[in-house]
Amino acid sequence: MDEFDVIVVGGGPAGATAATDLAQSGRSVLLLDKAGRIKPCGGAIPPRLIRDFDIPLSLLVARASSARMISPSDNQVDMPIDGGFVGMVDREHFDEWLRERAAAYGAERRTGSFERFERESDGRVTLYYRPKGASKTDAPVAVRATSIIGADGARSKVARQSVKGADKIPCVFAYHEIIKSPPVQQAADYDGTRADVYYQGKLSPDFYAWVFPHGEHASIGVGSANKGFSLKGAVSDLRAATGLDKAETVRVEGAPIPLKPLKRWDDGRNVVLAGDSSGVVAPASGEGIYYAMLGGRRAAEAVEVFLETGQASALKLARKHFMKECGKVFWVLGIMQYFWYSSDKRRERFVTMCADPDVQRLTWDAYMNKRLVKADPMAHIRIFFKDMGHLLGIVRPDRG
Ligand SMILES: Cc1cc2nc3c(=O)[nH]c(=O)nc-3n(C[C@H](O)[C@H](O)[C@H](O)COP(=O)(O)OP(=O)(O)OC[C@H]3O[C@@H](n4cnc5c(N)ncnc54)[C@H](O)[C@@H]3O)c2cc1C
Repeated sequence: MDEFDVIVVGGGPAGATAATDLAQSGRSVLLLDKAGRIKPCGGAIPPRLIRDFDIPLSLLVARASSARMISPSDNQVDMPIDGGFVGMVDREHFDEWLRERAAAYGAERRTGSFERFERESDGRVTLYYRPKGASKTDAPVAVRATSIIGADGARSKVARQSVKGADKIPCVFAYHEIIKSPPVQQAADYDGTRADVYYQGKLSPDFYAWVFPHGEHASIGVGSANKGFSLKGAVSDLRAATGLDKAETVRVEGAPIPLKPLKRWDDGRNVVLAGDSSGVVAPASGEGIYYAMLGGRRAAEAVEVFLETGQASALKLARKHFMKECGKVFWVLGIMQYFWYSSDKRRERFVTMCADPDVQRLTWDAYMNKRLVKADPMAHIRIFFKDMGHLLGIVRPDRG
């Protein structure tokens, strides 16, 4: 039976990053991915991700230099990015590039579907997977490892087998349609350098809808945790309202977005989770790629300590370090989503607030660089009072 230091299950942004880091530091790594499906995703990534994870700019299919926020009453607020951009990637090529980079550093790639693992008497694990193309009656392939990183996405089988409560992460369900970017005369409102975000209860009662440019393509999508709400109907309405119903549809797809980090990411023995499997998508924005890659990196570091010391408690470091960096941001965004996305009245005020130059500057800096501007305390204070004004209804939506 083949043996590895680590088996990484799932070759999305989280798993491919973990595999790259561990292979780079000389560990024997198996990167197992079931393949066969392009991850449904808007593909928006911040410059911080491009910097921290050495992503070549050639992987960007578009750059959005502004966002347009659209309120329930169709009030449109443009938020230009001063000198920067939001990168857009196609997950088909982005994920494959990440997996190939892991292989270039020495990770062994295999295509197959994880089934289960068993713990051996020496503490190591035997993992069983079904190779691509194998029939249900074929025996699964067995491989051994000292540790496992579960990066197999929102419905992670590894998480369900190893961490209590993993099957109960609260999710928003997101659905989008990929279209061919329309010629200008077909949809006057479409701009290939602008990301449009719709805060309208009719399009999403508890999240938002979007039109993201992707070069030759565009992603039109919507998210909601409301099971009775028709996501397809909302996308169809949005396409009709924007004139994008005439554009050719390339693909339609959906997937859950987990919006709450699990309380535990490891099993106290030799399994640790990373990315969507651990629940780390930012509330309010639904941004998950950066956090998946960061989670993959922190999981790899924790496994590295575990392999060096044999101390299973080292696996806890993955969550501890991640939450130290991002816990506060997730908490703030969670409150924002709960408060601002709960009624059209509040959405209207939220969009109005986005016209504020202080809000724009701090929002973009927080998104692009993943840090809060500490250098400008007055801006925070100004926003705090405006925020309270909007919250309490003292400031009229049309007054900003
Ligand atoms: C519609 C939609 C739009 C989104 N838009 C954005 C956006 O614009 N920007 C952003 O930052 N985030 C966005 N997200 C969130 C983002 O896509 C995820 O947070 C991110 O992909 C998580 O990465 P991951 O590596 O943890 O999991 P995934 O990307 O889901 O990767 C999991 C991998 O595991 C593999 N796998 C699954 N099961 C098995 C198995 N049994 N055996 C072997 N392999 C397996 C899969 O093949 C896959 O490659 C969006 C999500 C959705 C659903």
